Parts: sequence; structure tokens; C-alpha cells
Amino acid sequence: MAQSAGQRRLWALAETLLPRRDVGRFNQALMELGSQICTPREPRCDSCPVVTLCPTYSQGLQDVIPRPKPKPAVEDVQEAAVVVHRRRQVLLVRRGEGQRWAGLWDFPRFAVSAVLGPAALRRELAENVRLATGYVVEPRNHLATIKHGVTRFRITLQCHQSRYVRRDRSHPLPAEHRWLRIGQLEGYPLSVTGRKLARMLAERISDPLIRRGNYVHPVNGYNSSNAAEKAP
Ligand code: SF4
Repeated sequence: MAQSAGQRRLWALAETLLPRRDVGRFNQALMELGSQICTPREPRCDSCPVVTLCPTYSQGLQDVIPRPKPKPAVEDVQEAAVVVHRRRQVLLVRRGEGQRWAGLWDFPRFAVSAVLGPAALRRELAENVRLATGYVVEPRNHLATIKHGVTRFRITLQCHQSRYVRRDRSHPLPAEHRWLRIGQLEGYPLSVTGRKLARMLAERISDPLIRRGNYVHPVNGYNSSNAAEKAP
């Protein structure tokens, strides 16, 4: 890995400080000094074995360095995940390099506009699924809201169900995708929210009232209200 000029200088300085023998013990002692005595908050200078060598202490700076890092600003993000039903299967896509949870499987997921009426929301969901997967779908109902945080992003994930209509051959299929029965999802390496959504679907199809009918159980329009849930 390439090192910055600052890192190179620090390594060079470290080499001048290391003893010729027992480097391992020296390192261990330094790590224990850092974890037991010279902690970032409230260092125990009164008990410190190197207090007489310490320029930080001699200048009275032990309570002001290191300066706490400023917390990054939290950003609210609106996303949607769409469960696409085709016969008794649902569509999963594998998240690609550079995406959050790269390598894991998930329902088609994308950023959406924050406030949309039902008709505009349906259009936006259908268009995003078509562009992301090459499948034309008909959005049917809102299933749940999952709130979760990733690094500095506070994400509200609206989960919807949709019905597969047809393939749009003008758009490529995702590099990796699968049609799976809901019972197969348990064994798949899903993203955190993908797993939560898969469990909701599994609970719904195990509900005898739903099992007797069509397990897609479309709700007319987007009138259903679901309590917001928090991802673990
Ligand atoms: S004397 Fe220096 S090295 Fe020791 S605990 Fe205080 S600040 Fe850390």
C-alpha cells in the first residue's frame, strides 16, 4: 500500500526509537501504556512510568490532545427496496463492487424521491426496477418501513411489493440475479435489511390466512400503513 510522506516520516522516526533487542516486549509495553495509562481521555499521568520523558505532560497539554475528531454530519437518505414476485418466486440481485454490502444478495434497491404521491411513487418504483433489472413490474403495495444507519447515513428504507409483468429486452439483466422461493431465502447471504425483509415475507406466507389465498396478497393502492421498524 502506498504511504503518505507523513507516514514515511513517522515510520523512520519509529525506527530510530526502537531498541536493538526485545522489540516485541517494547511494543507490548507501549500498547499497554496506551490502553492502561495514556488513554485519549483522562490519561493517568500520576501513574505513568514515562512521565519524566513526556513533553505533553511538561507542557500541560495532556487534557487537550488528541483533539476529538469532529463528528461527520448525519445525512438523511430515502431508499426503496422492491420485492418482485413472479409465480411463487422473488427476485434477488447481487450487490456489485463499490456498492454498500458488495457481494451480498438483496432485493432491488435504490434511492427514491422523499415525497411523492401514490401514482408518482408507483411510476418511480417501476422505472427504477426496470432500469436496475431489465424487468417491467407493477408495484402493488407498501410492505414495511425499515430505518437503519450506515456510517454517517440515516436511511429510511421503504419496502414495497410488485408483480412481474415482462422482460424489457432493451435493458440488460443484472450481472448476477436469482429467482428464488421465499423458503430458500433463509440460506442466502443477504444484506441486513434484505434479511429482515425476507423474514417478513416468510412470516406472511406462514400466516394461514394468507396461505389459503394468493400469498402476494396485494393491497389495493398504497393505503396500508405499517409501523416503522428498526433494523438490528
Ligand atoms: S505523562 Fe505523558 S505519556 Fe504519561 S500518561 Fe501523561 S500524557 Fe500520557
